[in-house]
Amino acid sequence: MQSIRVVAIPTEIADAVRSTMQAPSYGFPAHKEAGEDAAPCRHCLRLIEPGQGARILFTYDRFRGVESLPQPGPIYVHAEKCPRYAEDGGIPGELRGSPRTLEGYARGRRFVAQEYVADGEFEPAVEKLFANAEIDYLQVHSTTAGCFTFRIERAARPMESSS
Ligand SMILES: [Zn+2]
Repeated sequence: MQSIRVVAIPTEIADAVRSTMQAPSYGFPAHKEAGEDAAPCRHCLRLIEPGQGARILFTYDRFRGVESLPQPGPIYVHAEKCPRYAEDGGIPGELRGSPRTLEGYARGRRFVAQEYVADGEFEPAVEKLFANAEIDYLQVHSTTAGCFTFRIERAARPMESSS
């Protein structure tokens, strides 16, 4: 498989929501809770299991940094500091366990194609989408909840500078 870049939300965003308890650039109140189900932290891309610690729910523009037209939606992060997922770390192992939808976009937020991954085998779907030269990046979502999880880029064609 070609080399990919896994892009979690920026650390500055996670830190800002933790310290202000408001959604960065929106100002909507963020919500801190214990959580009764497992949810992926969009910063470390690990699961926040119930009883493991608090999580913060806040509004985030899933196209932040790559497109001018925003599309805000709810996401979780660990309430406590956590390390940002390494961009060269490949598909996050803890997130293979639940169904994900990979949406392929061309710059300009033009939707091109999508693939559903139900068995944790992301690589063939990523390979198939990136075989289409029109597609610049992939937005990964929870297929069941619809929420944005992370972005995938070709390592050779980064969308923005690392943050
Ligand atoms: Zn985390």
